Amino acid sequence: DIKYLPGKEPHPAEHRLIFKNIDREGWDTSIETYMADGGYEQLKKAVKMEPASITDEVKKSGLRGRGGAGFPTGVKWGFIPPNNTKPVYLICNCDESEPGTFKDRYIVHQDPHQLIEGMVISAFAVGAHTAYLYMREEFPEAALTMEKAIEEARAKGFVGKNILDTGFDLEIWVHRGAAAYICGEETGLIESLEGKRPYPRIKPPYFPAALGLYMAPTIVNNVESLCHVKHILEMGGDEYAKLGVERNTGTRILCVSGDVKKPGYYEVQVGKLTMGELLNDICGGPKNGKSFKAVIPGGSSSKILRCDETFKIGKGDDAKEISFWDIQMDFDTLAACGSMAGSGGVIVLDDSRKMSWVLNNINHFYAHESCGQCTPCREGNGWMKKISDRIVNGQAAPEDIQTLEDVAYQIDGKTVCAFGEASSWPVEAIIAKFRDELTAETSEENEHLSKEQLQREM
Ligand code: NAD
Repeated sequence: DIKYLPGKEPHPAEHRLIFKNIDREGWDTSIETYMADGGYEQLKKAVKMEPASITDEVKKSGLRGRGGAGFPTGVKWGFIPPNNTKPVYLICNCDESEPGTFKDRYIVHQDPHQLIEGMVISAFAVGAHTAYLYMREEFPEAALTMEKAIEEARAKGFVGKNILDTGFDLEIWVHRGAAAYICGEETGLIESLEGKRPYPRIKPPYFPAALGLYMAPTIVNNVESLCHVKHILEMGGDEYAKLGVERNTGTRILCVSGDVKKPGYYEVQVGKLTMGELLNDICGGPKNGKSFKAVIPGGSSSKILRCDETFKIGKGDDAKEISFWDIQMDFDTLAACGSMAGSGGVIVLDDSRKMSWVLNNINHFYAHESCGQCTPCREGNGWMKKISDRIVNGQAAPEDIQTLEDVAYQIDGKTVCAFGEASSWPVEAIIAKFRDELTAETSEENEHLSKEQLQREM
């Protein structure tokens, strides 16, 4: 009986849990509207449960982190040392900055209480009395929306001292970031919260769950992941795990942008939708008589896939060959295809797009956002940007493609944080899959420019 705004009705292939209320007629961000829809009932249930049994439900649900890495949320919670005597912190990572990703943004703008309820339940489960909502600087309205919602929740006894008369205290602080992509990397975020430059920390051996904020156990979860906790309690972990497929359970929000007729956000059961169904059925196919050329399936750091590729997935008797169109949009299938589901940002490119332009665009982003801590990342991303600048400007020589590939491999796996891979994987994949197209934009006559850059960089 839910009515959506005209033109905003979900596609039949969608399965909305997190986005149930988004685009709904009469929906607003007030606590009254949220509570009229059953809001905060799961928190009331949670505070009567043993914290460990909430973690058990999350483990049973199979929920994997929706920030991008897909690490099992319940397992992460279980990494808090059992003999811990320090305060435990919960951090909600709302520094959503991965190009092509815009799901958390909708949640914090349109359904703030869903996130607060998820955060309070999660804090109760992990024993945190202080939670931080680290908010991307570019979401100023959302920061105000969240602050207002926290005060509404406090007035009703859902946040603050003695929540629902149980003796459980939780303070939630909204902390505005400073417009740096690296602050979304969890240890960079922690450094930033501590008031320092956001240089990521080396992990392993120590992960934030054991040594995080102020060297105390800290659980860092993405906005969407924390919202799922409420639904897991409502449905029960086992029932939630029936959504999606084995090892890839529940729903997730895919953000589709680029060359499709109907870009936007679509919440679907994980692994129950193929690339073909997403692009052609849900998103309406390519625009203006064009055809699809390639897709970046999980935010800019995931490896590009060509639409004419085939992939060998599975092992032993289960091994099979699938086409690009048959890829199931889940963590494991996309990993088996050599890419990743990442943050759910699906960037679609049609045959009018030049790969040199895509490469250059990506190189500019990462060169700008490198925090500068590690030499391969700081210097390498600058090199890559300058080489791809020359490719798009018709000033590159054929050997530049090889140099670009070499630089990418010199960054990959040689940096403190995953930014190194995030910036080198797209380059490696674009070169491997579109080498001829890139080489066609180069000329032997530009060899002197290539040599001049090499001399300058070295
Ligand atoms: P990761 O695999 O290192 O860690 C994932 C999570 O699991 C972290 O919270 C980590 O602390 C935890 N973890 C892993 N192993 C652990 C262990 N042994 N003990 C305790 N905790 C453990 O990945 P990451 O560097 O946190 O994230 C990389 C991903 O971030 C990329 O795949 C990318 O898709 C994504 N990303 C997302 C955005 C965005 O805007 N949403 C931006 C950039 C990158």
